[in-house]
Amino acid sequence: MKRNVSLEEISDGRLYGENDMVKADCHGCKGCSKCCHDMGESIVLDPYDIYRLQVGEGMSFQELLATEKVELTVVDGVILPNLRMVENVQMRDGQGTVGKMRTPQCAFLDATGRCSIHKSRPGICRLFPLGRYYENGDFKYFLQTGECAETNRSKVKVSKWIDTPNLRSYHNFLCTWHYFLNDVEEKVGSLEDMEAGKRLNMLVLQTFYMVPYEVGEDFFTQFATRMNGFSEK
Ligand code: SF4
Ligand code: SF4
Repeated sequence: MKRNVSLEEISDGRLYGENDMVKADCHGCKGCSKCCHDMGESIVLDPYDIYRLQVGEGMSFQELLATEKVELTVVDGVILPNLRMVENVQMRDGQGTVGKMRTPQCAFLDATGRCSIHKSRPGICRLFPLGRYYENGDFKYFLQTGECAETNRSKVKVSKWIDTPNLRSYHNFLCTWHYFLNDVEEKVGSLEDMEAGKRLNMLVLQTFYMVPYEVGEDFFTQFATRMNGFSEK
């Protein structure tokens, strides 16, 4: 999701590459789950997130929607999935139920306040408190200074923090996806026929999210095939 704020307002003013050290390490969160609460529709899922959930949790895109873990929202004119926030969830500690959490929280946060899909968590969750800053066909990372509850964070290499294999391919995929969505947004905005805009949105959803990915086959190759097929339509 794009944010219309200046980088200086929300960051330390620096941009980071994958080999840079950044003060992002919050030491395993130590019982905090602040950034899994009240996030609205901001944790938008890309096709690689869906692939990760499919491979790691055995959940198809359709199941994610049917179980209301994920919802569809219009983001900058484009319909995209995001993690759904749920309300009034029972919370437990080691002794049993301790009450209800009234702040909306991610549907994947478990009753003890931990992420139940940690190994398959989406890219935005892996990044936090980093964000991505896109410019000139590429992107860098920035540190959101006012977001993480842990103020005494340590330095960590960006690549280690993101905890994603095949980082070069992942980086290229993110660029392709971001600028592709920009083009879709522009196209939808320029269409006078609302039905044509809906059809384009449905084609994006169908091509990159709804058709299941082959488990055990490289995601980036599958994505490239789908992108090539989409461009030819
Ligand atoms: S706000 Fe910071 S410390 Fe708290 S859960 Fe998120 S990343 Fe961890
Ligand atoms: S997927 Fe996990 S880390 Fe991400 S918001 Fe949900 S509970 Fe938190």
